[in-house]
Amino acid sequence: MPPPRVDLHLHTRHSDGTFTPQEVVQRARSAGLAAISITDHDTLAGLTPARLAAGPGLEVLAGVELTAVWARRELHILGYGFRTEDVPLQSYLTRAQGGRRSRIQAMIGRLKERGVQVSLEEVEQAAGDVDSIGRPHLAEALMRKGIVRSLSEAFERYIGDRAPCFVRQATLTVADAVGLIGGAGGVAVLAHPHRMVEDAWVPALIQQGIQGIEVYHPDHNASVAEHYRRLAQEHGLLITGGSDCHGLRRQGGPFIGTIPVPYGCVERLKEILDLKGSDPFCPKGV
Ligand code: AMP
Ligand code: MN
Ligand code: MN
Ligand code: MN
Repeated sequence: MPPPRVDLHLHTRHSDGTFTPQEVVQRARSAGLAAISITDHDTLAGLTPARLAAGPGLEVLAGVELTAVWARRELHILGYGFRTEDVPLQSYLTRAQGGRRSRIQAMIGRLKERGVQVSLEEVEQAAGDVDSIGRPHLAEALMRKGIVRSLSEAFERYIGDRAPCFVRQATLTVADAVGLIGGAGGVAVLAHPHRMVEDAWVPALIQQGIQGIEVYHPDHNASVAEHYRRLAQEHGLLITGGSDCHGLRRQGGPFIGTIPVPYGCVERLKEILDLKGSDPFCPKGV
């Protein structure tokens, strides 16, 4: 039997993915995965339905993807294995979801200044029933109106991090993000560092409480992944990885389970959670 694999970076339609949690679980099963984590942006709404759908055969780790400010840029921090009922974390997430709406509205204002008309209603319609609205939904609304031909064109021309209508979301510092995750008994991991993190920042980020780094990710080819594997080894960081699947929103994937991530990542994670005295990995029942 091949060694078990996992996918620790997945989105559902509760944030900017297109699959329901049940569809994610279904695909994870088809891919033969042993464990997954739903890491929606700023919401935990996908976790319980995923756990209910998964049953005992598939471990579903509590996860979330937070946006934090570092060096005047946004970077993404994954949280794993935290207590989902933690009050400070829950209340932050509620605030962040509200902040996301205001930010979309601010970007709509900037678009308007440039003669591009799109309304919050149109973005909400493109988003469907999400908890955590985001730029991909705005991009989709622009596409539906024929203003851009693809999501990537929307990011390049208008709303990407360096584009004219971009408005920063993050109000969290890295220390705040790590504090929220760690305070809830979880582990904080730097997401897709190749896109967002300079190597020189890593020691300072570790000082802020970052305990892991995402090594396996579709942005990382084999040599980039090897680079981060060594960096992790050098700094004693936990290694994680996943497909960052957003469902059908990104044409051609990447899809669930297409990035090979060994089960050993989950074992290390469990060891860290044990050391912290946390056992929020896969509670009995839900
Ligand atoms: P937000 O959370 O609102 O800042 O939106 C960020 C999300 O937009 C990321 O999580 C990706 O899913 C998506 N994204 C970022 N850059 C691009 C891009 N260039 N093309 C398509 N999607 C992107
Ligand atoms: Mn996303
Ligand atoms: Mn991300
Ligand atoms: Mn992601």
